[in-house]
Amino acid sequence: MPIYRDSGFELFDAETTAEVYRQEDDPGKIPDLYLYSRYRNPTVISAEEEVSRLEGTEWALLTESGMSAIETSVSIFQDGKKIRPWLFFSEIYGGTISFAESVLKKRRNLDIHSFAPVRDRYDLDQFESVMKALRPQLVYIEIISNPMLVVPDATSIFMTAKKYGSKIIVDNTFATPYLFKPVDHGADIVVHSVTKYLSGHGNLTGGALCGNDIQLMKAAIQYRRYTGHMLSADDAYRLQTQIQTFRLRFKQQCLNAEKVAGILKDSKIIRKVWYPGLKDHPSHKEAAALFGNKGFGGMITFDFDGKSGNEKRKRRDKFIKAVSNKIKLIPTLGDPRTILMPVEPVWGEKYPEPGMIRLSAGFEDTQELLATIGTALDTISS
Ligand code: PLP
Repeated sequence: MPIYRDSGFELFDAETTAEVYRQEDDPGKIPDLYLYSRYRNPTVISAEEEVSRLEGTEWALLTESGMSAIETSVSIFQDGKKIRPWLFFSEIYGGTISFAESVLKKRRNLDIHSFAPVRDRYDLDQFESVMKALRPQLVYIEIISNPMLVVPDATSIFMTAKKYGSKIIVDNTFATPYLFKPVDHGADIVVHSVTKYLSGHGNLTGGALCGNDIQLMKAAIQYRRYTGHMLSADDAYRLQTQIQTFRLRFKQQCLNAEKVAGILKDSKIIRKVWYPGLKDHPSHKEAAALFGNKGFGGMITFDFDGKSGNEKRKRRDKFIKAVSNKIKLIPTLGDPRTILMPVEPVWGEKYPEPGMIRLSAGFEDTQELLATIGTALDTISS
């Protein structure tokens, strides 16, 4: 696919120009010609086709970040009429919570509610009562949450949401379509930070929203055009190339994460490991039911033990230093190599465990990765 860096495209005459602009605003029509890259761009469309193929949806739209995909996905339901409340599950990416609180609630004055798990599990009866009382216009959820890796019983939750007439928006960044395809189970829109696994090389920032409903697609194209949330042709080109290896990469990331979770769990200096593949993870049952035997994702969160907060912090910091030749502290996820970040400095109040680290498994050689982590744990324990 060529990279169309052009900001505008030749339209030849006034009659064609009028027709193309008319088609852009026709809710039932995909225009025949391109006119301006902020509206639509051939390279971006080609990458969008790859994303929709992967997610198994009729359409996918790319945006310049995961956050702009999230903003678009919810904003298209804000149509100027008096709208019902919006319900956000509480175990979701912190940036999404800040967006909901600071932009949707404080600036746009929307009626935003939150639904929290009990001991890292979402209770279905409680969800039913909240839905009955609130009857929200939309429900927003993550399939594997960041950073506690809570997995909801998504199929039951979607069924309940539908029963009360709510639209369902799912952030599938952590689970990816490799593990679960939300639209197949009734979700209306799936969003991704393609910055993470779909591009997978830590070299671009982008977002995607996907679905089957063509009216929602047209609304999202229009919102993206008005707000300028368009991915660049260069980033779309790289995404389109890198997404070809997504399955191979993610499969290896799941495998590496599973092995790493195993050695972390066996270490005496680690208090707790959160990985949905471990039998003692609070939502292991839900994860096994949703993902089958495909894997449990590439993310692990773990907490160093110690007699005091300071001892835990010291062990955490020693570990970060001991692995730093091979495993870098980079605050993102889904990179080719394993990376990590301490949780307390990022989410202090919400997850105040001083020894906690969130690790994103890469797709490097498994034995090399296990040796790096094993040696670091041995050094700290001795
Ligand atoms: N969704 C999840 C689950 C994330 O972890 C992130 C970022 O870390 C985002 C959305 C936002 O994506 P971006 O940073 O590409 O805007």
